Amino acid sequence: MAELLIPPAQQLIDGEWAPARDKGELPVTDPATGQTIQAVARAGRADVDDAVAAARRAFPGWAATSPSERGALLRRWAELIGRHVEELAAHEARDVGKPLSGGRMNGYIAQSIVDYFAGAADKLTGVTLPTRSPGYLGYTVQEPYGVCAVVIPWNVPSVLTAANVAPALAAGNTVVLKPSEVAPLAPLALAELARRAGFPPGVLNVLTGEGAEAGAALTSHPGVNHISFVGSTTTGRAIMRAAAENLVPVKLELGGKSPNVLFADADMDVAIPAIVGSITENAGQNCYAGSRLLVEASVKDEVVERIAAAMRAVRLGPWDADLDMGPLISAAQYRRVLGFLEEAPRQGARLVTGGGPAREWARERAGGRPDGWFVEPTVFDDVDPGSRLYREEVFGPVLAVQAFSGTAQAVEMMNDTDFGLLACVWTNDVSRALRLAGEVRSGQVSVNQFADAGVIGFPFNMQKDSGFSRGGGHGAMREYTQEKAVAIRLLDR
Ligand code: NAD
Repeated sequence: MAELLIPPAQQLIDGEWAPARDKGELPVTDPATGQTIQAVARAGRADVDDAVAAARRAFPGWAATSPSERGALLRRWAELIGRHVEELAAHEARDVGKPLSGGRMNGYIAQSIVDYFAGAADKLTGVTLPTRSPGYLGYTVQEPYGVCAVVIPWNVPSVLTAANVAPALAAGNTVVLKPSEVAPLAPLALAELARRAGFPPGVLNVLTGEGAEAGAALTSHPGVNHISFVGSTTTGRAIMRAAAENLVPVKLELGGKSPNVLFADADMDVAIPAIVGSITENAGQNCYAGSRLLVEASVKDEVVERIAAAMRAVRLGPWDADLDMGPLISAAQYRRVLGFLEEAPRQGARLVTGGGPAREWARERAGGRPDGWFVEPTVFDDVDPGSRLYREEVFGPVLAVQAFSGTAQAVEMMNDTDFGLLACVWTNDVSRALRLAGEVRSGQVSVNQFADAGVIGFPFNMQKDSGFSRGGGHGAMREYTQEKAVAIRLLDR
């Protein structure tokens, strides 16, 4: 079994590894140490042209393959991901700074997503339509768009590559993927496995480069037929503006400020570790992170105390120490999160635990190695609903707590956000759980668990400023197709 190495300073275009046309390079660093892991190509406009041209050439042949054939290739890709999951995990963990176990979990999730769409490839159907009189036939077919541009962020690169590339390919599109400049290694590794699985040249191309350069050139390219973007709300708006020029459909998966809504009757032994995990997993750098805790006033003090104790017990270290939490991804992210921590008390929040850099702490606990962008797991109580900490996505291990009294106020506070990604409800009262699930304005709801764990094909839906997407389930394949309606008059011969 060949090792899963990524050729330095190269990207994958038309089935071949190649440097950027102008030989530009970008360093990829380990956020725990600041040291360079390796260089990747820095894609420019000429590389974008090459990748889009390769994807356009490959499209007619790929779209004409039988869906079962596409499914078989996807299944082979999933098998290879499973066989190389340890190497893939190391690429993701080192690049993002997350514990190796987190990288491994994401590798397995990526495998299961690709496997899911391998099975779905030959199950995409249209409908037969009723007609007003006999002698007519009406039906619909789902057709691929052509070249899909997929732009993803750095926080869960394996999962986001699989979740967007697999349905696009299964539906018969070709893809140009641009991963984040700060975490491109796992997507490159996945593309190399796709190459080994036997996808024809040009079907999946990966451009590594910066957002303002390669990302902007790709999403405004006239040869692109569909854009799928996962990232911040600000960049999402810029991409939608670019797409308007070419009148290209866009799918957006953006940020979040998801609440855990905790009632006094909840099973606290289940809820509290899950709530802590929801804001410390991946150092809080998840779009669905449980960054707001709304807790029933009668149990607030006890709950905050237990959560603070659990946050203090979170062990920090570099990816290969494989503890509970790594550093933030970059200096920019570190400065941004510290900005929130400094501002929150000035806006009236009460610091319960954490609240600052954790470099020394991480160094002590992980045997003197880390020197990266570590931040303490932090809890602020009594957070003003008008403050930036309560309203904006921090993208760090920072929990904002507020108390509520009664179900009506819980509903109101749960929905008091511009975002609409996920809400988690913790209660043993089924009527109350169903009421909140019905009234929440978010794309996903979970009850007595955080997020979708255990549900196969759970649609990764969004509402409001979190975007619009039906990713994850069978609907994801439909998003990568356009419907054609056919009407036929049957002539009497
Ligand atoms: P980002 O918006 O800065 O970058 C995302 C991607 O867009 C990167 O590949 C970047 O290079 C590219 N990009 C940047 N500017 C661009 C431009 N002008 N044109 C085209 N491409 C451009 O986001 P980030 O900091 O990498 O990731 C964090 C964000 O991602 C958070 O807001 C998080 O909530 C969000 N996210 C959302 C989901 C979801 O499914 N909703 C999942 C993961 C992350």
